[in-house]
Amino acid sequence: MQSPIDIQPSTLSEFSDSYDLRFKYHLAPLNLENDGYTIINHCPQTGSVIFGDEEYFLEQFHFHSPSEHKINGFQFPFEMHFVHKSTDGYFLVIAALFGIKYPSMLLTQFWDNLPPISKSFKSERKLVLTTSLTRVEGYFHYMGSLTTPPYTEGVNWIILDTIFTLSDNQLQNYRNIFGKPTNREIQPAKPKSVVHFGDRGDLSRLLNIGDIIEKKPLDTLYSILY
Ligand SMILES: [Zn+2]
Repeated sequence: MQSPIDIQPSTLSEFSDSYDLRFKYHLAPLNLENDGYTIINHCPQTGSVIFGDEEYFLEQFHFHSPSEHKINGFQFPFEMHFVHKSTDGYFLVIAALFGIKYPSMLLTQFWDNLPPISKSFKSERKLVLTTSLTRVEGYFHYMGSLTTPPYTEGVNWIILDTIFTLSDNQLQNYRNIFGKPTNREIQPAKPKSVVHFGDRGDLSRLLNIGDIIEKKPLDTLYSILY
């Protein structure tokens, strides 16, 4: 199956109350590269996540705007991907979806240093990744692909079910660098290909997120989601 997908009730299979994801992140080097499609921070040897019985080592993180994944048809303004690889060569990508509201503390650490297209930025400074990210309590899992060439399949996707925020300024800073969308279009998802881990009550709220965002101010939204 190819990625990204729209996570809808028909794509969900069983549910699990367990939470089988453990973060072991360290401080990350600041090593940004703009390849014309995204801005990547290369950060090997920054730790790992344990999913099931397998350990996946963080290689880099990067961004898309608007989001690549959708939830029940709703597209978010921004999505962040943490790309990991096991020693056997299998990929695991953790995706964080963002709405516009409060500035992201994670992004604030290096947002002034975003390089223009074909440029890079390196510094001795270290980034703290273990912020709100590692305290998430639920997520979706499915087997998909990389969303850029060579679109390799067999990728473990973890879509965190907490919605993060960045400020409108932070979003515009990123968008202005590219001046065009940096997401791959939605790919067809097989029925029942996605498993949700975590609280089912949170899930039903999440599946209505498009309605919630359209009908209520964001302040209300975030008090509902947290
Ligand atoms: Zn990506």
